[in-house]
Amino acid sequence: MPELPEAETIARGLAGVLAGKTIRDVTVLREDVVHGSQARFREALADRRVSVVGRRGKNVVLTLDDASRVVVNLGMTGRLVPGPGSGPAPGSTHPAVLLHLEGGGSLAYDDVRRFGRLRHLSAAEWTRWSRRLGPEPLSRSFTGRRLAGILSRSRSPVRSLLLDQRRIAGVGNIYAVEALWFALIHPRTPAAAIGAGGVTRLHRSLRRVLRAAVQAGGTTLRNYRAPDGNEGRFRRRLAAYGRAGGPCLRCRAAIERIVFGGRSAFCCPRCQPAPVPLPAEGQ
Ligand SMILES: [Zn+2]
Repeated sequence: MPELPEAETIARGLAGVLAGKTIRDVTVLREDVVHGSQARFREALADRRVSVVGRRGKNVVLTLDDASRVVVNLGMTGRLVPGPGSGPAPGSTHPAVLLHLEGGGSLAYDDVRRFGRLRHLSAAEWTRWSRRLGPEPLSRSFTGRRLAGILSRSRSPVRSLLLDQRRIAGVGNIYAVEALWFALIHPRTPAAAIGAGGVTRLHRSLRRVLRAAVQAGGTTLRNYRAPDGNEGRFRRRLAAYGRAGGPCLRCRAAIERIVFGGRSAFCCPRCQPAPVPLPAEGQ
């Protein structure tokens, strides 16, 4: 599932082909990926110019010239594929929505499993929607003090808190696991139990991991591709995620895979000591 670095890579890759272009028309091939009425969706996008291609959390966001937004949640397998002609690009195998651009180009929203969603939000709806998400972890205002405040209000395991988009936007399982390994914090540590030193390490490692992943064009495990079709290059730099049984890059102990909250986490039993007592299962 795309996280912040993948959505950022997609937004940057599309900005060059999409920003400043006018959407002539929209073809919805798979109604279930469009939120609400597809007639309303088409009408809202037709003849609008895309002024900015950006991101909020894990979502790619097109800002249109009337300040409304098209929010693209890529789900599990969603991709945005630009093409030179009016039909879907050759790289689009499961086109679900097609934006026809002035000058003949197109942008396909392609989704094999169709867990992704496209929604159009008016400027006012966008403000309300965006406000429900937590702060952007790479923003200037996301300080160590701000993270400390977020952590102090929760007794959930810190990994669960990092995945909660209402607390912090854009972090998913891969980068949460990586940041916790760098910060020497066990994924099940209750958020409020992390001391000042741990908060400082987590703040630094979260930002460092996300920045490095953006620079590497994200992480491809299976489906994710940048708009140019390339895989993200961060996979080979993962220190803990997916490395169960492999040596910890700090102390050589075998990385462990643990499951809680329905998801795998990976940690070093020596560098990331488990909290005592362990919080209840399922949190
Ligand atoms: Zn270790």
